[in-house]
Amino acid sequence: MTTIIDILKNTPKTNCGKCGYPTCMAFAASVASGSGNIDRCPFIPERYKRDHKASSNTDGSHEPDIALLRELKAKVGRIDLHSRIEDLGGEISREGMTLYYLGRKIIISPNRINDPTGGELDPRDQILLYNYLFFGGKGELTGLWVGLESFPNSISKVMTLKRYTEDKLAGEFKETPERLKDACLRLGGIVPKECFADLCVTIPVLPKVPIRIHFWDAEPAEGFPAKAKVLFDKRALDFLDIESLIFAAERMAETLVNESSDTDE
Ligand code: SF4
Repeated sequence: MTTIIDILKNTPKTNCGKCGYPTCMAFAASVASGSGNIDRCPFIPERYKRDHKASSNTDGSHEPDIALLRELKAKVGRIDLHSRIEDLGGEISREGMTLYYLGRKIIISPNRINDPTGGELDPRDQILLYNYLFFGGKGELTGLWVGLESFPNSISKVMTLKRYTEDKLAGEFKETPERLKDACLRLGGIVPKECFADLCVTIPVLPKVPIRIHFWDAEPAEGFPAKAKVLFDKRALDFLDIESLIFAAERMAETLVNESSDTDE
């Protein structure tokens, strides 16, 4: 069975978007789950594609890829999660080890990540959370906000963040910044005292991975479209790799859009 990591390793990890997915990780997860078509990435070696197809079912799809999650769970089981959960902003309670992810309480065990109702999270979210747990960042954040372009080796990734997070937020919430603000507050967003944009909000995506949104609404009379800029704490890479950071931002944007849609109904 081909795992997400196997597939990811065979992409160039440039998040170019040619496959129709915002990141190589999202593409790999989709292919591994059987819903995505490996041929949509033109950069994966043909030999690997052939091997992948040969190991797939005859209809070209995979059984749900539980191998990676099993592997990650095994690793979590070996890292003494109890001793690091507080460094990661989680806590140990009667429910077990918990932390908040995009406004939702998540219960973590070496074998499972679920919400308090017992519902299992989307595999992509589980991968993000497991990455966060493995990374095992320590220490305090700086409180200094920087753009993705400030991080090393980020040039090819800046456009991905713009296309799938910043432009998505700008397009969805143009002329309705209050709707964006409401959705942010429902995810536990905090509005800072000082703001030089039309709206500034900090979303606690993960306890040690907050993401700041700056939003400027459109000014049609002056020909300015709506614009959103996403910022990270200067120490963000001490808590997640850059791919996972971009994915965290995308999930944040998707959740905000969904939140605002739910209240529109
Ligand atoms: S086509 Fe998709 S999987 Fe391939 S490099 Fe671009 S984003 Fe990554």
